[in-house]
Amino acid sequence: MLTVDEALQLVGQHAAQLAPIRIRLRDALGLVLADEVTSDVDSPPYNKAMMDGFAVVASDRSPTRTIIESIMAGDVPRRPIRPGTTARVMTGAPLPDGATAVVPVEQTELVDDRTVRLEWIDPPPGKHIMPQGLSMSSGQCIAAAGRRIDSITMAVLAEAGAAVLSVVPRPTVSVLTTGNELVSVDERPAAGQIRNSNGPLLTSALCEGDYAPSVLPSGRDELDELVELAQQGLEADVLLVTGGVSAGVKDLVPAALAQAGVQQVFHKVALKPGKPLWFGIVPREHGPPRLVFGLPGNPVSGFVCFHLFVIPALAVLAGRADSVVLRLSKGTSMGEFAYGGGREMFRPAYVDAQQRVEIFPWHGSADLAGMVRANCLVRLSETGVELAAGDRLEYVRLPGINPGK
Ligand code: AMP
Ligand code: MG
Repeated sequence: MLTVDEALQLVGQHAAQLAPIRIRLRDALGLVLADEVTSDVDSPPYNKAMMDGFAVVASDRSPTRTIIESIMAGDVPRRPIRPGTTARVMTGAPLPDGATAVVPVEQTELVDDRTVRLEWIDPPPGKHIMPQGLSMSSGQCIAAAGRRIDSITMAVLAEAGAAVLSVVPRPTVSVLTTGNELVSVDERPAAGQIRNSNGPLLTSALCEGDYAPSVLPSGRDELDELVELAQQGLEADVLLVTGGVSAGVKDLVPAALAQAGVQQVFHKVALKPGKPLWFGIVPREHGPPRLVFGLPGNPVSGFVCFHLFVIPALAVLAGRADSVVLRLSKGTSMGEFAYGGGREMFRPAYVDAQQRVEIFPWHGSADLAGMVRANCLVRLSETGVELAAGDRLEYVRLPGINPGK
């Protein structure tokens, strides 16, 4: 059976960044720039007053000055400043020619409408002035390719005039749950039935990762129905199917995916929970192949596989990462814990702000309620582990989940 690392490598061989698209800036939050962006303006576009006050010639020592105009942000100065004169300026206003410093209004006193006395007559040149182009200059690269567009980048791009941008699109992801036993949250399960938790789990985990899921109707364990639903799901860049990938007689998902044109890359990984994981691809003429993950039906198994394999793959498609790798963090164990080994285990746990990890009681891959406090998955070696309090360990963070206070 493949190890987790081997399986990750295989996923990595098929996951590649999606072809760039052009979109408007307002739709770009969270996406990754496909090209660098250069500014089409200087910022500030003119020498800018950074205080409300009076624009002066810094070397002038006259205690009083004649006010020749008032300049607000948005105005254009009309007259140059010479020794003995000044202009009233508001924060953000362009400075008139000749002005080399701003004396703040708090350090001045009006003598009359046209005259001001300066309490500070020798400001250093440049005081309270932001020179044209100090922040960025026209033609300068202000955001490199590969940058994720967050609120700060969004603002810089707006200032730079990047109204339309080339970005890596958000991968589209279809979610298909399968199983005759499944009913929705609106229904009371009859004999033999359970509620569908994988659907809400994956859909919301995709939203937490800033991916856009589309949910297919839940499929019954009938080959033809699963083939048809899989074909619909393959319109997306990534198809996630849950259930039907273990060894039971109704585990029809691998056969249904094969009939829908998906080429199997691997089935089963030496992972606990998550052994039945299935992975395949559908090559495309243009761009990287569509990826298909058959996730185990047991919710915790599916969730672990989702965070170990699907999230890293999506990050590559979305241009957020260069390769499919686990982001392991280092922490310490809060208490004692023993794992007998067998398969490599990624066990739900809680990590606090000091990177101390609490491995709490949990009843296995179907125990969803038992992991409601989890915010990480602790890696436990296949050779077995005996942890004492304070021992070092590694974990994968579950982003956006139980961040703690
Ligand atoms: P399977 O892989 O289809 O044999 O499913 C393994 C276990 O996961 C069974 O106990 C299923 O009832 C359960 N299961 C499958 N799909 C879901 C789902 N969408 N929500 C909750 N439990 C599920
Ligand atoms: Mg099933």
